Amino acid sequence: NTTQTRKQKPVLKLSNQPRCAADAISRREIVKKQRESLPIASVKERLVQEVKNHDVLIIVGETGSGKTTQLPQFLFNAGFCSNGKVIGITQPRRVAAITVAKRVAEECGVELGLKVGYSIRFDDKTSSSTRIKYMTDGLLLREALLDPYLSRYSVIIVDEAHERTVHTDVLLGLLKNVQRARLKSVIDHAVVSNKKASNGITKENEKGAECTNFLKQCQRKFPPLKLIIMSASLDARLFSEYFGGARAVHVEGRQHHVDIFYTLHAETDYVDAALITIFQIHLEEGPGDILVFLTGQEEIEGVERLVQEQLQKLPEESRKLVTAPIFSSLPSEQQMRVFMPAPAGHRKVILATNIAETSVTIPGIKYVIDPGFIKARSYDPVKGMESLIIIPTSKAQALQRSGRAGREGPGKCFRLYPESEFEKLEDSTKPEIKRCNLSNVILQLKALGVDDIIGFDFLEKPSRAAIQKSLEELFLLGALTDDCKLSDPVGHQMARLPLDPIYSKALILASQFNCLEEMLIAVSMLSVESIFYNPREKSEEAKTAKKCFASPDGDHLTLINVYRAADELLQKRRMELGIERNEKDIKGKNEKILRKWCRENFINSRSLRHACDIHSQIRGHVEQMGLPISSCGDDTLQFRRCLAASFFLNAALKQPEGTYRALASGQVVQIHPTSVLHQSKVECVIFDELVQTSQKYIRNTTRIDYLWLTELAPHYYAMQG
Ligand code: ADP
Ligand code: MG
Repeated sequence: NTTQTRKQKPVLKLSNQPRCAADAISRREIVKKQRESLPIASVKERLVQEVKNHDVLIIVGETGSGKTTQLPQFLFNAGFCSNGKVIGITQPRRVAAITVAKRVAEECGVELGLKVGYSIRFDDKTSSSTRIKYMTDGLLLREALLDPYLSRYSVIIVDEAHERTVHTDVLLGLLKNVQRARLKSVIDHAVVSNKKASNGITKENEKGAECTNFLKQCQRKFPPLKLIIMSASLDARLFSEYFGGARAVHVEGRQHHVDIFYTLHAETDYVDAALITIFQIHLEEGPGDILVFLTGQEEIEGVERLVQEQLQKLPEESRKLVTAPIFSSLPSEQQMRVFMPAPAGHRKVILATNIAETSVTIPGIKYVIDPGFIKARSYDPVKGMESLIIIPTSKAQALQRSGRAGREGPGKCFRLYPESEFEKLEDSTKPEIKRCNLSNVILQLKALGVDDIIGFDFLEKPSRAAIQKSLEELFLLGALTDDCKLSDPVGHQMARLPLDPIYSKALILASQFNCLEEMLIAVSMLSVESIFYNPREKSEEAKTAKKCFASPDGDHLTLINVYRAADELLQKRRMELGIERNEKDIKGKNEKILRKWCRENFINSRSLRHACDIHSQIRGHVEQMGLPISSCGDDTLQFRRCLAASFFLNAALKQPEGTYRALASGQVVQIHPTSVLHQSKVECVIFDELVQTSQKYIRNTTRIDYLWLTELAPHYYAMQG
């Protein structure tokens, strides 16, 4: 038996590429059949007609019925892109935008980036020929800054509206304005034309013709914007009322029976419980893939490693289990792996964030494991503190999750909590706009000319306290003037950068502190999750490896050290490989070298690559804005002073009993165990974020001098006394 000697862990060998022409044809046939059998296919004509008849349409449909992938194609074929206009579809999540665009490009038989493309922050795969464009809701908001009428679009589909991300909510308000503004433009132009015509310069019969012509021109210039809101939740009332009683239609789905199992007692460690359940299903249940809902990248990668380890302990014949992760910062070429079938005889276990709840539908799932948690943003407007917390899902989410098991046949869902707990869950999750820091969206609304934030027509209004606190924060960062207008140039510059206001401020200041090189790296590294990885079984080795990069001054400089070490390695390799002619080959070799280096140094290569991409994008923005880019070299004092000047709202001071007190909010916090400053005796730090588990932790900290705060942020600290 040849498999006896195989030591290699089973790895997914999946390829998107058809091996030969016949494969390609049969794949095209399969895709065609799949499309025709989707529930939405049978109501195609009706839906197109509804869109033609209504400027605002709400479509409610079960997950997997084909809304996201099919509707844009129906509309394209019905002529909604004539005159070169674009159909835009927004998604709350980047992964959804990418994977769906790839799928639709395949269904259309076109290369991604031509007729079908996607655009997300830091990654644009569209061209002038793109007509069906998937994008994140946040990106469309940014586009509105450059093109207030969104004049390139004939149709905008706001997908996954039930998710109620803060960007979706704000976008809906904005789109309402755009619809109105386009209509007003037509009328205004018509009025002007009418006035001109009645000046008596033209004769009566010419006047009529001129008017009609002008009206036609206006309408061509400003055709009505079709707005479609799609949602998986059955309650369309809120959306409909918001748009003045807009029409709502329902698309039937297909759902098989799903058996729900609960645990007898509450689990203390849901990750452990999930792991046990994965293997119970794998060893005791019939064929079918498993979908596990976890809260984030770190957890997913942890479980992935544990599954691999456990597999090694099983007899050879039981090892036919392959893992496929999916989370938002997974590099796009790895995302499509979840859609590929496992090798023959193998079972696939998909480890997903709540992205797999409604945003993407993965075929082949029969078992769902739902620990019942999500990572969510939470905001305390009194303290002005935003934090990431792990909270229980809502009932609606639990139902969506179990539904994933019954798409293709009867399935099973294992909820890792007792049935009594289910009854205690909230019906639905509170919209994000009511639990996040609003400074980012306020900055964008201001840049769009919306001055009265409290009076803005929100789908659901955030609290006045939250709006005020966020305005105050923007003011303290220098983005707003005394009368609450965007300041020039800082406020305008901050609005242009696709980053959190504090990060934008740090970059702008860094150009004055001569450390923009360093700040660009720091901001890019902070924009990804977990650069370091620390497997349980090799914890000591990982710690030793991290020491090589650690800066006694804190995590920001440590992250910069990692980035620079990787960059140097690649530079060196590029020089060595310079003689080779084939660009692609050089890239391939570099990839391998980098991955090896990352493995040896316990660095997460996925995250590092993502950070590099972000770095080159932000650098482009900063160059365009004309900010001078220079490096402070070894004078890291400049860099830390710059951090103090920009992150002064996130400063914490050591207390006699060893904990820290966040100065702006007064909260008692501790330095996160992953920080290089954990258990150090540093007096004063700034931090990047607050995370709340059993304790309140501050993450990514850097040592500063307390006196710098009064020196560099006197408007805040002198005031505080
Ligand atoms: P909805 O938006 O109504 O939830 P979708 O349009 O996302 O539904 O999905 C319709 C169907 O397309 C689903 O059955 C799903 O399995 C399939 N599908 C979507 N994306 C892919 C993909 N990348 N690979 C394979 N199948 C896919
Ligand atoms: Mg969808």
